[in-house]
Amino acid sequence: MKQRLTILGSTGSIGTSTLDVVARHPQDYEVFALSAATQVDAMLAQCAQFQPRFAVMASPEHGRALAEKIQANGLATQVLQSPDALDRIAAHEEVDAVMGAIVGAAGLGPCLAAARAGKRLLLANKEALVVGGALFMDTVKRHGATLLPIDSEHSAIFQCLPEDRGSWATRVDSILLTASGGPFRQRDPASLSQITPEQACAHPNFSMGRKISVDSATMMNKALEVIEARWLFDMAPEQIKVVIHPQQIVHSMVQFKDASVLAQLGTPDMRVPIACGLAWPERIVSGAAMLDFSKLAALTFEEADAQRFPGLHLSWQALRATEGTTTVLNAANEVAVDAFLNRRLSFDRIHAVNLETLEKMPLPRAPGSLEDLLALDAQARVFARVAVERWALA
Ligand code: NAD
Ligand code: MG
Repeated sequence: MKQRLTILGSTGSIGTSTLDVVARHPQDYEVFALSAATQVDAMLAQCAQFQPRFAVMASPEHGRALAEKIQANGLATQVLQSPDALDRIAAHEEVDAVMGAIVGAAGLGPCLAAARAGKRLLLANKEALVVGGALFMDTVKRHGATLLPIDSEHSAIFQCLPEDRGSWATRVDSILLTASGGPFRQRDPASLSQITPEQACAHPNFSMGRKISVDSATMMNKALEVIEARWLFDMAPEQIKVVIHPQQIVHSMVQFKDASVLAQLGTPDMRVPIACGLAWPERIVSGAAMLDFSKLAALTFEEADAQRFPGLHLSWQALRATEGTTTVLNAANEVAVDAFLNRRLSFDRIHAVNLETLEKMPLPRAPGSLEDLLALDAQARVFARVAVERWALA
């Protein structure tokens, strides 16, 4: 039986890599629905190639533009246009698996809809877990959804852990998340204020979306991944460690109680964790190159420099603080990164905005529902925008 797929965020880096893997296995996968924010022409090309039943754009204006082009090209795809369109394609009864590849908190709602519908959920959208980890994991459990991590580190950990989830607490000592260190790992910390969006988005090993590229450069990406790991694997914050590994061959490791360490290795290509999630527990060709050990010069590991990457430690602090703090941290970071990409904030002040938002934003009560989380997210964005204005002038 073919797996029918919805891809949320199909025009992005993860979305296009997912379609690349899917195109290699036309007998096994069928694209049911695609979604994107604004990239009408890219979506049109995907609709022509994969002929999904439905396509969704983020605004009525982009939806109309797509619908016109779809009609002009004689395609059968129906453009859905309603506030709940993403939830509908994520939870549709004919869908087997959903790839959550929207960037940011915007992905939380539709991913939760997929979880509520008990889908096989391939989760790349780490911000969804940072914003609403407790609610997310509870929803997955209650509705019998299958959650498969796509973030390469979390896919690695998932592959190293025993299949019996119940045994993790007694067998696992800690999780070692590897980090590339980003493009500025060796740059003089005094010159970080000069970094441009172009430099920050030129990641050495992957071609990624702009937001995650900036997060990798500040190491906020790793901070978000620590929080993501806490929820995916039900670990205490102190069980999650970060180690810099610039070659990105070891994608992460699990250390067991007896001091044995299991690692997952491979070429740094997101099609590997994507193929792993699509086929799990089977294995399929991903299109990535096989790892050639004769060409690997060295695998090196080092500690993260806390002065250069002050944001990294916010993850453990936020996890230990009042519930809702990680929601605030994520919102602040989305606002700060956006301001940096739009040249309104210097690179080294992304952290200042995150810190100030965390300090100033009151946390009234623990957010229990999606509505609570979205309200908290919106409120934190207001505080973060004020902080951006202040730091932009300072
Ligand atoms: P991207 O910017 O390349 O793509 C994002 C996709 O989401 C696009 O299709 C865009 O149209 C859509 N989108 C953006 N905002 C939206 C909104 N408000 N509503 C609906 N759709 C929206 O990003 P990416 O690099 O593919 O990353 C996607 C997610 O996967 C992020 O959460 C990222 O952290 C995670 N991730 C990415 C990589 C990678 O290598 N790119 C690796 C690990 C995890
Ligand atoms: Mg990652």
